[in-house]
Amino acid sequence: MSLPKRMRAAVLYDYNDLRVVDRDVPAPGEQEVLIQVKACAICGSDPKIVAHGWPSCPPMGEYIPGHEFSGVIAAVGSGVTGYRAGERVAVEPHKGCGHCINCIRGLYTTCLNYGKLEEGHRHYGFTVNGGYAEYAVCHINCIHKFSETLSYEDATLLTTAGTALYGIQRAGGIWPGETVVVIGPGPIGLMAVQLAKVLGAGRVILVGTRESRLATGKEVGADITVNSRETDAVQAISELTGGVMADMVVETSGSTGGGAQAVELVKKSGRVAFVGIYSEPVTLNLNKVVQWNVQLAGGKAEGEDVLDRIVPLMESGRIKTKPLLTHEFSLEQINEGMNTYINRVGNALKVVIKP
Ligand SMILES: [Zn+2]
Ligand SMILES: [Zn+2]
Repeated sequence: MSLPKRMRAAVLYDYNDLRVVDRDVPAPGEQEVLIQVKACAICGSDPKIVAHGWPSCPPMGEYIPGHEFSGVIAAVGSGVTGYRAGERVAVEPHKGCGHCINCIRGLYTTCLNYGKLEEGHRHYGFTVNGGYAEYAVCHINCIHKFSETLSYEDATLLTTAGTALYGIQRAGGIWPGETVVVIGPGPIGLMAVQLAKVLGAGRVILVGTRESRLATGKEVGADITVNSRETDAVQAISELTGGVMADMVVETSGSTGGGAQAVELVKKSGRVAFVGIYSEPVTLNLNKVVQWNVQLAGGKAEGEDVLDRIVPLMESGRIKTKPLLTHEFSLEQINEGMNTYINRVGNALKVVIKP
């Protein structure tokens, strides 16, 4: 496979100035592969990056964002033995330094050397260039193979599902037959619903405010949906559980209301996973957390080996992707894609850019 020298890439020149321009195709270094990017999904953090940049991101005029991407390996760097050109891979954005105490313990999404390139840390699409380009380099720690059963668009949702699963695991997992409440019917919430079912939840109740998204929740397996704009969610869950409340609450909305409500929806000795991104501090009833013996956990992105374990769940159809993949744009149309995502044009859920 002969590689071109130049490629098209979406480069952030300044805040709110994302341009599609020509760039050199990057060369894979040691233990890295060059990926021909086939699909890169817009994440909730991308519009914030376009508007405000990211701490320790590459300089303006050089920075290529995009971190939920998949493609085909075009070339391998030195020392790569387990991968070869032509293989289909999805990327997970976090590569820990590998030697801080958190990385040694497998907690690489909270690497203590975050942003330090000289220590070997990488956060693709954040502190180093990512997937809004025809080609991107990526370390072998961060790539996951998938079969032709999955499309490249499907595979962009591995990180979305991975974030939900990692949060659920951090909060102690889900036991067969349990009642699980998921707050927030966005992409992560819709993956949390499906993962709860796969993990054996007896009942999954999805709480949200948008009817169209709650309907998608039903489509992917939610047993009950509660529109918290019309119904008091605490009262609804109380009635559904005979006053006991939920064994597990997965908070994905990232809203201050949702964050606080998570603790009101959980039962005594229940568990709460927080995987939303909160733009402001949330006030929680911590006395209830103590008196009710509640276990809280934050889940930072898609740690451990969750992506590799989600691949077979997607390949076998137990985790559905199609209802979430609502829009596609070419790389040249990336700003239109961002606008569609931000303003939820046509009930946009996941918007995929296809270089
Ligand atoms: Zn993301
Ligand atoms: Zn580390």
